[in-house]
Amino acid sequence: MRERIVDLHSHTNHSDGSDTPTSVVVMAHARGASAIAVTDHDTVSGLSEARVAAEQAGIEFVNGIEISADYSPGTMHILGYYIDDHSRALASKLEELKLARKRRNPEIADRLQSLGLEISYDEVASLAGNEVVGRPHFARLMVQRNYAVSIQDAFDRFLAKGAPAYVEKKRLAPAEAIALIHDAGGVAVLAHPYQLKLSLLQEAEVLIGNLAALGLDGIEALYSRHSPEERQAYAAIATRHGLIVTGGSDYHGTYKPDLDLVIGKGDLRVPYSALEEVKAKAKARAEQNRRIPSA
Ligand code: AMP
Ligand code: ZN
Ligand code: FE
Ligand code: FE
Repeated sequence: MRERIVDLHSHTNHSDGSDTPTSVVVMAHARGASAIAVTDHDTVSGLSEARVAAEQAGIEFVNGIEISADYSPGTMHILGYYIDDHSRALASKLEELKLARKRRNPEIADRLQSLGLEISYDEVASLAGNEVVGRPHFARLMVQRNYAVSIQDAFDRFLAKGAPAYVEKKRLAPAEAIALIHDAGGVAVLAHPYQLKLSLLQEAEVLIGNLAALGLDGIEALYSRHSPEERQAYAAIATRHGLIVTGGSDYHGTYKPDLDLVIGKGDLRVPYSALEEVKAKAKARAEQNRRIPSA
């Protein structure tokens, strides 16, 4: 029998994916995955629908979230697995992050307008249709209006860090993001480490060592956009720092058309054993939280 596979990184229309939680889960099952984690940005609002759909489809479901942390020059995202989506501490922090988006987003629209693009925040928000409005929604409207040929083109020329319509938003410090996930009973995993834009694996080694000291549990070495060499190199770093290795597609539907659910760019296979390691960490975390309950 072939080894069972999983996908531990996916987005729904509760953040910046195009598909409902139900269709993501049903598709993961149809593609032969044994488990699927939904990891929307800054929100847990899609998890209950996804869980019900998973029960009906007969696929194992993992509560997830993806939180952006303050970092430069690249991007640092921390995934949380097995978080308690009813945690009040988590809900209040997520409210703050949504407010930070609400402050930033109209500024992005202002920038685009001053660059001559007819893009209003209200239109972007209604296109997004949920609480977490992100840059990919701006990009979608820009493509619809022929200001860009693709979502990636909109990012490259306008929305990416360093581009003319980029506006900073308040993010959690890496230590805060990790603590938030831990306090909600979750396992904290560094998403897509290539996005840290570290030129040398040596630099990645140091940074990941520091994150491990802050309590990071794992690294998403098996990522769609990592080359086989990168997957190996990040897995080796994980081993050296006592971290687990996880993986996922980062499926966003039509917002990232090159990333397919479960299989990524075609060659992704995340073994079920990766999820077993996440579960072992979650169990240890639950025991620790029982011993030292957070305020
Ligand atoms: P936001 O949360 O609004 O800052 O947007 C984050 C989303 O934009 C995530 O889905 C990212 O993968 C995507 N994103 C960020 N930077 C880029 C980029 N340079 N090219 C394409 N997508 C990006
Ligand atoms: Zn996203
Ligand atoms: Fe991410
Ligand atoms: Fe993601």
